[in-house]
Amino acid sequence: MNNKSTRLAIVNKNTLETRKSVDFDDYFISGALQTSLEFHELIAIFSNKIQSLIPHSGYEYRNKLFDLNINNGIITRNYFSYALKFEYQELGEIKLMRNQRFQQTEIQKLEALLMLLFYPLRNATLYRQALQMAYTDPLTKVNNRTTFNDVITRELQLARRNNRHLSLVFLDIDHFKILNDNHGHACGDFALSSVANTLRLAVRATDIVFRYGGEEFVIVLSDTPKAGAEIIAERIRNEINKQSLVYGDTILDITASLGISTLQAEDTTTTLVERADHAMYLAKQNGRNRVQVA
Ligand code: GH3
Ligand code: MG
Ligand code: MG
Repeated sequence: MNNKSTRLAIVNKNTLETRKSVDFDDYFISGALQTSLEFHELIAIFSNKIQSLIPHSGYEYRNKLFDLNINNGIITRNYFSYALKFEYQELGEIKLMRNQRFQQTEIQKLEALLMLLFYPLRNATLYRQALQMAYTDPLTKVNNRTTFNDVITRELQLARRNNRHLSLVFLDIDHFKILNDNHGHACGDFALSSVANTLRLAVRATDIVFRYGGEEFVIVLSDTPKAGAEIIAERIRNEINKQSLVYGDTILDITASLGISTLQAEDTTTTLVERADHAMYLAKQNGRNRVQVA
């Protein structure tokens, strides 16, 4: 048997901070927790491995940083909950549930065992943050073009396999160069972030927004026929057109031109993208601040 001490901080629901020195011989739990960097898996492994020591009927894990809310098993009114923190890093909140009250000895054991979760949860946090940085555009916080290439390939396959519609909306901000020239690059950046935000709010949760290039965005509308895509594109156009952005003393009235393409039998990802791009180009030619269908 291996004896080892560790000193880590637990902050419980009452924000009582305790520093504990714990001896544990539960290295099998630690080993199992090293097999994953996914929050879902880590919490499931933890629950499973401590089940014989602290019987429970269900668990819940919340992590605000990544908008995670994981529930499993039978939810009861009686529970024991901890907000986990490692130095300044929030690692989420874990709740164990069962109908009978938890005994004091079980709580002590649980607190000792929770410490095994700190490093795995911190590693999962770092891993997820790294992934997010790889697929997110740093200025607008929407997905970047590399991600678009992956997603459109997958969405096209899914649409074909399930015989579903798929539409793309290309959006290019009108006369953006003038805005940059007149008000400066920082103001242009602000406008780009604002438009990205408008797009995020204007689409359904299942639709995905990407920054395609400088002042160009693309939205993937899964399970959406041409008529649906037109409604969404027109809503976006109108939303951008009607709002005034305030940047210091400057009021910016921005418009955008949008092009739509919908998946045809003979399409590849390239032709689908080209048609949306071409439709957007036609919207520019036809006077800007409008939606054009390919
Ligand atoms: P059109 O209506 O025909 O689209 O005209 P436009 O001026 O929007 O198009 P153009 O392609 O000529 O100019 C795009 C401008 O977008 C030029 C470039 O400097 C600017 N831009 C690209 N990326 C960024 C960025 O990240 N930040 C800022 N501020 N400007 C950017
Ligand atoms: Mg452009
Ligand atoms: Mg433009």
